[in-house]
Amino acid sequence: MKNMILAANWKLNKSPEQTRAFFATFLEILKNNASAYSQLGKQYQVAFFPSATSLEATSTSLRGTPVQFGVQNIYHESQGAFTGENSARVVKELGGHYILIGHSERRQYFHETNSSLNKKVHHALQEQLAPMYCIGETLEEREKGQTEKVLLTQITEGLKDVNPLLAGSLVIAYEPVWAIGTGKVATPDQVKETHAFVQTALVKLGFTSTPILYGGSAKASNAGELIQIPHVSGFLVGGASLEPQSFLDLIQASLS
Ligand code: PEP
Repeated sequence: MKNMILAANWKLNKSPEQTRAFFATFLEILKNNASAYSQLGKQYQVAFFPSATSLEATSTSLRGTPVQFGVQNIYHESQGAFTGENSARVVKELGGHYILIGHSERRQYFHETNSSLNKKVHHALQEQLAPMYCIGETLEEREKGQTEKVLLTQITEGLKDVNPLLAGSLVIAYEPVWAIGTGKVATPDQVKETHAFVQTALVKLGFTSTPILYGGSAKASNAGELIQIPHVSGFLVGGASLEPQSFLDLIQASLS
């Protein structure tokens, strides 16, 4: 079995109370699955990205378990006069491990650019957190044959001046924008071709063992097939991570 990362992006969902209820059920079911639980943290990682206001509830719920978490966005400085932003240092203090950077919704609605995201990648690494850097093309870009050009630009600009030797914790999430939240999953051939392209681009920059996750309507019914594809190291999951059982089903499908 591959070394996998199965990550849940909750976006702007779940209050602290709903977060605690989710984890009570999720952990109970997971612990009852002795085989899946014993491999967790060794053979595969599970990570949650709650909204910032539910971060502390997540931290408390997951304390003492091998389940990891992080935030969906940070500012590139850890403190100061930056109203409304999230601090990587606080994530670390709460026991978080990952920072999601450059999700397509951040790029689209909050106008984040490759160069602003590059600062966040550097900052996450400086704070000894693991950046999960998202890349992906829109439907229009794919239809115009621009997928590789777009991905290459996102990779080279977003990872500019990042030293691969000091970025062992970096994770890439390839998420075709047209497959996010649409129920329209990329075909296995599209995933195979694009992950191979991303892997080659990363290796050329010196990132020889950076995991590449797939995201975009991943769920239990397609995870088993997609995880077999070379250079797919796991999933970043939105909709199918909101209920404990559907995310656990996806984990189970990826493991088997
Ligand atoms: C996401 O938000 O990163 C995502 C992949 O969402 P969904 O699984 O709902 O497509």
